[in-house]
Amino acid sequence: MTTEQTAAPINAWQVAQSQFDLAAEMLNLDPGLRRVLREPRRELTVHFPVAMDDGSTQVFTGYRVQHNLGRGPAKGGIRYHQDVTIDEVKALAMWMTWKCAVVGIPYGGGKGGVIVDPKKLSLKELERLSRRFFTEIEVLVGPERDIPAPDVNTTPQIMSWFMDTYSMHQGYTVPGVVTGKPISLGGSEGRNEATARGCVFTIVQAAAHLGMDLKKSTVAVQGFGNAGSIAARLMVDEGSTVIAVSDTGGGIWKQDGLDVGKVLAWKKEHGTVVGFPGSQTITNGQLLELDCDILIPAAYENQITAANVDNVKAKIVAEAANGPTTPEADEVLWKKGVFMIPDILANAGGVTVSYFEWVQDLNRDHWTEEDVNAKLKVIMDKAFGEVLAQSLKHGVNMRTGAYLNAVQRVADATAMRGLYP
Ligand code: NAD
Repeated sequence: MTTEQTAAPINAWQVAQSQFDLAAEMLNLDPGLRRVLREPRRELTVHFPVAMDDGSTQVFTGYRVQHNLGRGPAKGGIRYHQDVTIDEVKALAMWMTWKCAVVGIPYGGGKGGVIVDPKKLSLKELERLSRRFFTEIEVLVGPERDIPAPDVNTTPQIMSWFMDTYSMHQGYTVPGVVTGKPISLGGSEGRNEATARGCVFTIVQAAAHLGMDLKKSTVAVQGFGNAGSIAARLMVDEGSTVIAVSDTGGGIWKQDGLDVGKVLAWKKEHGTVVGFPGSQTITNGQLLELDCDILIPAAYENQITAANVDNVKAKIVAEAANGPTTPEADEVLWKKGVFMIPDILANAGGVTVSYFEWVQDLNRDHWTEEDVNAKLKVIMDKAFGEVLAQSLKHGVNMRTGAYLNAVQRVADATAMRGLYP
């Protein structure tokens, strides 16, 4: 059965809560703390008008959720997608809390989303929507309170509009209010590649642990956007063969290897990877089931589920995307001996370099790309080692290992701060 045939929709918030419950149980977490950490701190829903090019006024719905602020300001991206729901944003916010704790950066977790298919908007409509949405969520955001970033379908240009909108309201330039900005506006070197680069650092560590030669390994990547396309390129730099990639239009497969640079150029021209010369067209579901060594889901939630997990053949699954594997599928992968690098570790490079960007902005500083990449590697390698140690110590998969570290760190901070008032 392929992903497209999966029946019942899986609720990402229930998935996130059940992952947390598992770790809380293993940590024997205090019941009060458990109740606090199981729910988001704040949820904001906004319905806001946008003037469309045809003269009509449309009302859009968006969300900003702050899951936990115990270790620092909320941090997390804003997603533009027609399928955004409050439960999805809550899940993504909770995952951000754990992610920041796994890599030890001083943030809580937040996330935002707008229900919109941005491909259906003109550039001017997109700008008006972005500026008005950011205005609506300004009751929560700020460089010391909540710092958004890019996610699915949101770009450095959109971050620039967010930053400008906030700065106009403050009366002075506030680069630290969002990350993922262009370099010219206080963005960090290496931010664009950071999610993929961090993911590849974890794959290199996993391969070393498993004794796998990356130069002889094959890779399939689901999703060919920021995270997926750059991860594909960086895996080629490691000497691996990328045999398949996909996007919302479908997938392409070429067993002796795709030229990732040429696929990127093709997608730019045609809007999809499908039709790339010399490749065979496959579905997104088929991509997940290909005979490959490394599978990188880099698109969307709930892709590896009870319905297709038995057909997954990869030896390593590296979750560049957030929440691509359901708990049932996780269990099966663990039993099959698949090495899972969970999202809260595998894609934490993005938020780590966002943190670097914020530090540079607050200090009016600018680091070199070499500096950024070297600091990122130190953080990712350390986090990977700590998660692997937990996983080996307790005989659990890497996701649970990561949760044990993260939940314990957030619980410690929350307990030390005590209950206000
Ligand atoms: P993006 O918008 O740049 O790219 C998303 C890609 O996925 C596109 O190629 C799109 O066609 C494809 N896609 C979307 N839905 C799909 C589906 N159902 N099946 C197959 N392909 C599909 O987004 P991105 O920033 O690369 O984000 C991708 C994933 O990585 C998301 O889960 C996001 O939360 C996660 N992530 C991104 C960052 C970041 O810094 N951008 C950081 C951490 C995690």
